[in-house]
Amino acid sequence: MIQLEHLYKSYDEGTESHEVLHDINLGIRPGEVFGILGSSGAGKSTLVRCINLLERPTKGKVIIDGKDVTDANGKELSALRSSIGMIFQNFSLFQQRTVLRNVTFPLELNHTPKDQREERARRLLKLVGLEEYADRYPSQLSGGQQQRVAIARALANNPRIMLCDEATSALDTTTTVQILDLLRRINRELDVTMVVITHSLAVARNICDRVAMIDGGNIVEMGPTEDLFADP
Ligand code: ADP
Ligand code: ADP
Repeated sequence: MIQLEHLYKSYDEGTESHEVLHDINLGIRPGEVFGILGSSGAGKSTLVRCINLLERPTKGKVIIDGKDVTDANGKELSALRSSIGMIFQNFSLFQQRTVLRNVTFPLELNHTPKDQREERARRLLKLVGLEEYADRYPSQLSGGQQQRVAIARALANNPRIMLCDEATSALDTTTTVQILDLLRRINRELDVTMVVITHSLAVARNICDRVAMIDGGNIVEMGPTEDLFADP
């Protein structure tokens, strides 16, 4: 479903070029929860941002559903982005919008009629357990509730893929486990393929079917979670 082939990414810094990803090759299967595990600065975010082309690879290919999208632009790029939801460590909600209007936002961008937007947003809020909170503002919610709103917003366009960038890193243990349960439920019930960035072994073991460990821009290990973290 997602293939990265001989992917390289460098950032220019003045006259120097700094390589952040080195010859990344991986395939993520439909329906899978795939973890990208590594310490801070390893290149995890950059790798995942290449999947929805928030970053353009310096070299190599991004293939989604068999289609080379590496150079996608215009309509093709918009279609790709709306088929991929994303959530972040700090939720990135719009503080001036209510919960409901955070979730309708992606539907406003693609001109879905107002009544349909609201109906879909309310259905998604129900799915994440926040139907009572539609008229609140993000600052009135706990961290876990804010992440649920972000999850509902990421699902607005019915994506086939969801990218989760340290989605639980700002949350306490109990809330982390609840959010991971919700993500797993979305993976199973809505058949959304998940790519989960984390620096936490506990998170990877909890939710990921397979994991790639990344260090200094290289994949150093890859395999089923239970094989990688098997007790000796
Ligand atoms: P991780 O997600 O594993 O913490 P990142 O992908 O965010 O790692 O960053 C990997 C490396 O790339 C770091 O050294 C970081 O400083 C650098 N980097 C990330 N984004 C940029 C950017 N826009 N410009 C320059 N360097 C960047
Ligand atoms: P950190 O460096 O952020 O402390 P950890 O690997 O220690 O990273 O874990 C991140 C968070 O996940 C911690 O709060 C940890 O307690 C919590 N955690 C513990 N057990 C689990 C679990 N089974 N599933 C998910 N998260 C867990």
